[in-house]
Amino acid sequence: MSHFELLVLFCLGLYLAECLLWVREGGWLISTWRKSYSLFQGPGLRMRNPWPMGGCYRYSPPSTVSRSQPVPNLSLEQARIRLEGFKPWATNLHWYARGLLGVAALGFILFLSRRGFWLGWGLLAFLFVFFHLSLVQTFWRAYGKLYPGPRKDRIKKSLLCLVSPWQSARAMDLLEERLWEAFHPWVPGRLYLDPATFAQWVRRWLLELRYPAALGGMPPSPLLLGTTPGEEEKGLAQWLKESGLDPEKLTLPLPASEPANLSYCRRCEVQYQLAEGTCKDCGRPLVPFH
Ligand SMILES: [Zn+2]
Repeated sequence: MSHFELLVLFCLGLYLAECLLWVREGGWLISTWRKSYSLFQGPGLRMRNPWPMGGCYRYSPPSTVSRSQPVPNLSLEQARIRLEGFKPWATNLHWYARGLLGVAALGFILFLSRRGFWLGWGLLAFLFVFFHLSLVQTFWRAYGKLYPGPRKDRIKKSLLCLVSPWQSARAMDLLEERLWEAFHPWVPGRLYLDPATFAQWVRRWLLELRYPAALGGMPPSPLLLGTTPGEEEKGLAQWLKESGLDPEKLTLPLPASEPANLSYCRRCEVQYQLAEGTCKDCGRPLVPFH
């Protein structure tokens, strides 16, 4: 392998590493490839779309629950306004990032096929720097508009973009990381996910809240609205009703998928061919089908 091929591999590896996201235990990731959104429950490593694209949301449960935590915003209307404010910046960043990656790819192809000429190389270098600096400048302005407050984070992240073109190509992801920090995770979920996937997510969340695991190391759904699971569920059910969904219907037990299945776990919804026992995944007692 030549030095140049090694360099290309190194750059590609570095870029793909930027696309990896760790989703914590109890965390969730909503990400998009093309136009459809997928949902992933942590813990695990997931790959974002390598072609920069808006619409990635990662939820990490708070490591410590304190009373001083602000109550998350549950307003869908305010969330829509926030998303509208983000879109124009995302569109600009998207086009510059496409330009940057396109120029880099063209440069590598020309070099490999030995077809470059000095004027062409000069033009490519100019375009590369132009797209890169445009990304950094757009990111700097967008960050100031979307997240007013202390400048430390803004300076740090903009510098990160400035020193690494791979980071600037993903400036949109960097900008989106804080977009929903004041909101309850269900709010961006409702905006991004299709109704069926959203219903599935809400179901999982409510079941984990209502039926905590009997085995250690499996945290229940976090308490963001109240201090007890009962209060939390009440708050969430209220929000679901206000947004036109029926919490009772969303958490109805599923029927047996095969006649041989005799019981199920209320939390994990795994079905068993045993009349009684405990769930292998969470340790909860099994419930017979009627
Ligand atoms: Zn279970």
